[in-house]
Amino acid sequence: MESRIERIKKQLHSASYKLTPQREATVRVLLEHEEDHLSAEDVYLLVKEKSPEIGLATVYRTLELLNELKVVDKINFGDGVSRYDLRQEGAAHFHHHLVCIECGAVDEIQEDLLDEVEAVVERDWKFQVKDHRLTFHGICWRCQEKTKQESVEKQHAE
Ligand SMILES: [Zn+2]
Ligand SMILES: [Zn+2]
Ligand SMILES: [Zn+2]
Repeated sequence: MESRIERIKKQLHSASYKLTPQREATVRVLLEHEEDHLSAEDVYLLVKEKSPEIGLATVYRTLELLNELKVVDKINFGDGVSRYDLRQEGAAHFHHHLVCIECGAVDEIQEDLLDEVEAVVERDWKFQVKDHRLTFHGICWRCQEKTKQESVEKQHAE
């Protein structure tokens, strides 16, 4: 985690920004919750636990700055809330999401998988692909297991 913070610090420096203690507190929360998709309010509440002096506006500005520097990506899963998601280091494009319509879980696919699609878009639409957002909506493996389990139990009960 420390080396990751060090690299983010360098990224900020090369864009002429400093990693102030407030910014560092925000970055730490993002790293500690790398698997989650936190809204600005979520990040703020977590930052506040350790640094009660930091306000929501500061956290919000930091998140916007990190978004500009491509340290985080902003994503909306259709509930109208912007969520901040750490970009995998060195990834050219944003990762994909699997949103479960049963339990609301959000899983990630870090592999791009879209090389062929991107090639078609660039060739047929003369469109230079810089990034993308891909969200699948469906039923996660956990919910599928649960349904299977429940139908087995039901059969036994009959
Ligand atoms: Zn994600
Ligand atoms: Zn891609
Ligand atoms: Zn599910």
